[in-house]
Amino acid sequence: MKTKELIAKGVSLPVMEAFYTIQGEGRFTGHPAYFIRLGGCDVGCVWCDVKESWEAGKWPVLSIEEIVAEVEKYPGKLVVITGGEPLMYDLGPLTALLKQKGFSTNIETSGAHPFSGDFDWVCFSPKKFKAPHPSIYDHADELKVVVFHASDFDFAENHALKVKKSCELRLQPEWSKAEKFTPLIINYSKNHPNWKISLQTHKFMDIP
Ligand code: SF4
Repeated sequence: MKTKELIAKGVSLPVMEAFYTIQGEGRFTGHPAYFIRLGGCDVGCVWCDVKESWEAGKWPVLSIEEIVAEVEKYPGKLVVITGGEPLMYDLGPLTALLKQKGFSTNIETSGAHPFSGDFDWVCFSPKKFKAPHPSIYDHADELKVVVFHASDFDFAENHALKVKKSCELRLQPEWSKAEKFTPLIINYSKNHPNWKISLQTHKFMDIP
C-alpha cells in the first residue's frame, strides 16, 4: 500500500516529534506524559509557536506500531496526541493500539477537522483562523481558549455555549501577550467563576 493510503487509513502517520515530558497546560498540568506531535496543520494561527509543524510532508511517516513501541520505552501511562492539527488524520487505529497497551489517551486539538479516535480526555482549543468542525462539541472535555486579543473573551463564551455542560472551561494567556492579558484573565475568572486559568507552566520550567 502506498504511504498516502496508509496515512488515509490512520495506520501510518507523519510524526514531527515525540518526547516524554510533563504536561504543562490545562487539566493535566503537572502530569508526566508522552507527547506525540503529528505533522500537518491548515489552521494558520498568526501566533503559532510550532509553525514548522504545518507542512506534513516534511516529517517522517511512521507506522502506529513504531509510534507505540517508542511510547512503551517510558514509564508514564499518559499519552497526549497533539500537532500540528492531529484531527487531520483518522486517529482511530493509533488510539485503539494505545488503549490496548494500557495507555490513557489525551488529545489537544483546534477541532478544525472531523473527530476521530478513542480518547480519555479531549482538550478543544478553538482558533479564530479556521472554524471548528461541529463534531468536536460533543467530545470536548475541556475548552481551552488562548487569549491573544480582548475579543477572545467573547469568542470563548460563544464556544462555551456549544460544549457539553460537564466541559471544563479554561482561559490561557498567549505566551507573548501574557504580561498584558494575565491580569485581565484573572479579573475575568473572578467575575465569571465557571472559567479557570491555564498557564503554559512548561515554559516557566523550560521544558518542551
Ligand atoms: S492549530 Fe496549533 S499548530 Fe495549527 S496553526 Fe494553530 S497553534 Fe499552530
